[in-house]
Amino acid sequence: MAGTLSFAGLAGQERAKAVLRRVFQSGRMAHAYLFRGPDGVGKAKCARLVAARVNCRQPDEEGACGVCASCRKCLSGNHPDLVSLSPVNGTIKIDPVRELCRSLSYPPYESERRVVIIEDIHTMTQAAANSLLKTLEEPPEHNLLILTAEASKELLQTVVSRCQVINFHNLSPEQTMEVLMKLQPELDAEEAELLAGLSDGCPGTALVLQSKDLISRYRVVREVLEHSSEPAAGVTEVLLEAEQLASLKADLPLFLGLLRMWVRDRLFQQDDGSDLGPWQRRLDHIDRAQRQLARNCNRTLVCEVLLFNLQSPVPEVSL
Ligand SMILES: [Zn+2]
Repeated sequence: MAGTLSFAGLAGQERAKAVLRRVFQSGRMAHAYLFRGPDGVGKAKCARLVAARVNCRQPDEEGACGVCASCRKCLSGNHPDLVSLSPVNGTIKIDPVRELCRSLSYPPYESERRVVIIEDIHTMTQAAANSLLKTLEEPPEHNLLILTAEASKELLQTVVSRCQVINFHNLSPEQTMEVLMKLQPELDAEEAELLAGLSDGCPGTALVLQSKDLISRYRVVREVLEHSSEPAAGVTEVLLEAEQLASLKADLPLFLGLLRMWVRDRLFQQDDGSDLGPWQRRLDHIDRAQRQLARNCNRTLVCEVLLFNLQSPVPEVSL
């Protein structure tokens, strides 16, 4: 399929793409790049686009052609000169790194250059990171290393200083929605918008959130909160809902993030001069619930109190 390996296929990241286009135009390639940015914004995807471009037989200014023999191998994941290493159970240990470094002294099988992608290097043990230093400083000929790392995580300065760093950023809500709807055509626009907001512009993270099915729960809760105007009738419903929410356990803070977006949207919509106080207080209630959860207060109780307070501005209940 033509175009599937072009830089244009990567959403956003205009600066990163501009830097990479210049690199290929000038032919002056560093021996190691570090793609640094938030989780789920396309760093690993971009690393694969660069890898394909490096060995493509008929590239253009937009990157790899996507159809030559080399590109086809990249697309099928069978390119003998494209090597990747990623964390196992959340960590990259020393043995696979050592083994990888040793293997780089052999010439590539069929390409001008072997491309080595090491994902999420912030998960490397100190020993693993140290074992990579010599290779990073002076990789054997015919090798290009591309490392990725989460921006907020600490890295050994000795690793960073040996790479050319290219920064990646969160996407705009619109870009995130577009990526999500392309990847998951069955998503409706509201769901995509919620996921885009909750993931803070990181489509990869949004997909993880989608798999947790928080959105349908959120819709039920919002329905309960918006339509139980007679509190007496809504009590059972609210208690039942609180119990369901409590069972989200570790995902509960994420769910509160959705409620926060709901309240903020309402706050911004009220531009008719009406009293914003009740909505501002709802935000405070969500903050309080978040703090209580962080202190390991009883989840069900926290959810019950929160839902009652979100439902009606008065009277307020406290824990
Ligand atoms: Zn190609």
